[in-house]
Amino acid sequence: MKTVYFDNNATTMVAPEVTEAMQPFFTTYWANPSSMHTFGGQVAKYVKTAREQVAAMLHCKPSEIIFTSCGTESDNSAIWSALETQQDKRHIVTTCVEHPAILQTVAMWERKGYRVTRLGVDGKGRLDLDEYKAALTPDTAIVSVMFANNEVGNIYPIQQLAELAKEKGILFHTDAVQAAGKVEINLEKMPVDMLSISGHKLHAPKGIGILYVRKGVRFRPFMRGGHQEAGRRAGTENVPYIVGLGVACDLATKNLSDEITRVSALRDRLEKGITSSVPDTLVNGDTENRLPGTTNIAFRNIEGEAVLLMLNEYGICASSGSACTSGSLEPSHVLHAMNVPFKYAHSSTRFSLCRYNTQEEVDFVIEKVPPLIKQLRELSPFKD
Ligand code: PLP
Repeated sequence: MKTVYFDNNATTMVAPEVTEAMQPFFTTYWANPSSMHTFGGQVAKYVKTAREQVAAMLHCKPSEIIFTSCGTESDNSAIWSALETQQDKRHIVTTCVEHPAILQTVAMWERKGYRVTRLGVDGKGRLDLDEYKAALTPDTAIVSVMFANNEVGNIYPIQQLAELAKEKGILFHTDAVQAAGKVEINLEKMPVDMLSISGHKLHAPKGIGILYVRKGVRFRPFMRGGHQEAGRRAGTENVPYIVGLGVACDLATKNLSDEITRVSALRDRLEKGITSSVPDTLVNGDTENRLPGTTNIAFRNIEGEAVLLMLNEYGICASSGSACTSGSLEPSHVLHAMNVPFKYAHSSTRFSLCRYNTQEEVDFVIEKVPPLIKQLRELSPFKD
């Protein structure tokens, strides 16, 4: 059975160009890039190129890129550094809809005595600017707001939010793990101080990420040890993956505008195809302002887990808005924050597409979903 992979916000396929580019770094160029010998120096050149490729995608300086092991490490490091370098400030501002990499981190700092403001969202998952402005105080050490949400795809007004933080002299971090490679990010224009990316969301392997730290922003490393990454992140560089991430960023930079057009057209076709043929559906999130490949569709009165299992029977991979992996049918924290009605929230299903998806796959899903939902509704214990 063919797999139809519409779960690209969970992880993406490694691009063939990326796999190919990484190969020599397992077999031929395996030296330590910090070594003094020529062999080490040869490898270091490729790390430099990768750094330039990442910087080109973000419109920043290569020296502002720190390679890390993942998005989670980058998020943890950003908050850590902001608090460690400004020990007189004891307040963090974030949102209710962040990834656990931020939410669990700020909760840990809260247990250590920091004050945390978690901004709420409206029914479409949007922030309230007045609430945001009111949250910024002289005691605020850092604001961390995600660039795009992993569940519903909402894109947040980072330019505006960062400018407002800057006016007050507050550090601004954004978790751009879901946005990088999918939408334009221009750090020349946006006064963002720190930004996190994860390789596996943009067709590079799992286990590689970056933290961008703007030149001039004080930084204290989270990982201690050797002097790698200009003393900002200890640990021997994961050269093959760094090279892979560089190539993935390069591919994203070159194809971005075409991909935005093509992937959002596929997503819209899927969304329209499903919502026009299945009654009582709802699209979660800010449909005016979201990632090109993401749609989060709720089917009234059925369980998200059952939808996923049925889709799986046809080889269709999607994701649920309820925390079913933990054995609970509670809506996710994002849908909960959005106040999505319970009859919809627990059936919310995320389809996330990428450049490798095709119209044929979209049409296959459009054909399978309506009878599947009809069947589940007949069996469902939930009724109006
Ligand atoms: N931030 C967001 C918005 C994410 O979607 C994810 C992964 O799902 C992460 C952070 C964590 O990234 P990683 O898996 O590389 O640690």
